[in-house]
Amino acid sequence: MMFPASIAGSLPKPAWLAEPNKLWPQWKLAGDELKEGKLDATLLALKWQEDAGLDIVCDGEMSRQHFVHGFLEFVDGIDFSNKVEMGIRADRYKAMVPVVRGALSLRGRVHAAEARHARAHTARKLKMTLPGPMTISDTIADRHYGDCVKMAFAFADLLNKEARALEQDGVDVIQFDEPAFNVFMTEVQDWGIEALHRAIDGLTCQTAVHICYGYGIKANIDWKQSLGEEWRQYERIFPALAQSRIGQVSLEAIHSHVPLNLLSLLQGKDVLVGVIDVANDKIETAEEIADVIAEVMKYVPKERIIACTNCGMAPMHREIALCKLHALGAGVKLARHRFG
Ligand code: ZN
Repeated sequence: MMFPASIAGSLPKPAWLAEPNKLWPQWKLAGDELKEGKLDATLLALKWQEDAGLDIVCDGEMSRQHFVHGFLEFVDGIDFSNKVEMGIRADRYKAMVPVVRGALSLRGRVHAAEARHARAHTARKLKMTLPGPMTISDTIADRHYGDCVKMAFAFADLLNKEARALEQDGVDVIQFDEPAFNVFMTEVQDWGIEALHRAIDGLTCQTAVHICYGYGIKANIDWKQSLGEEWRQYERIFPALAQSRIGQVSLEAIHSHVPLNLLSLLQGKDVLVGVIDVANDKIETAEEIADVIAEVMKYVPKERIIACTNCGMAPMHREIALCKLHALGAGVKLARHRFG
């Protein structure tokens, strides 16, 4: 299958499950009803993606409130009741973050219910996402390890445990979300990739890392404006990623200031190319999507291109997100016809 289509991970939650259009929505259900609602929404997410013609589908992250905290909720050693203010992503945002106060350990499985439910209800390839160790350690305060690298590796061990279990559940692709990778470029080379290696240790399924310039929220838009005409952050980390054992790299392309010729630095990797803008409600046309794919084909062999969204769609309006999923399906169809 040429140009398989996938999404970065999240989709808007139905309004009966959680507050819509929010990055940090409050659940509208509780207890067993919430558990059931999350799985019902997972089915909906699969159906939306299948109907749109996507080839590698996700659970839509329907069971997590936030892409990092959905994992942290299951980790012991973290104090959520006395959060502290911290500048994250090199001070781009101030956020109230939980605090690590003891040795970290996993309180059982994190995503078993939704992964197994999704596996039981789709025959397509299934991808599950987890936050990356560097991004997690940039989103939490440390009062125990005294060394953020040590803490990141402790998280990597927990991620590895969950990732191995997800593989057992029948998941085909495990993706780690590392938006911190284009902020801490030196650290990525020093230890970020090694932490990811720890997280994927022993996996035989496909592995991916998603790097991006964030959702379309104000702090990100302001930051992007400070980056200048060309966003060349990837230039510093792609050579190291090309050498890594991660199989796939997911990044934004459409409407982005990333010079696409940087993708030639990802030799040997499958590239999940963002052809859907999640920071803009305008629906992409199939032609626009095929044009981005054509441009990327100059730098990435076509059999290594996977068409994807720029980032997660969780905060978007549901109708817009659905139209964009269909645009993605139509775009790859046109690209296959044109370049197949
Ligand atoms: Zn992203």
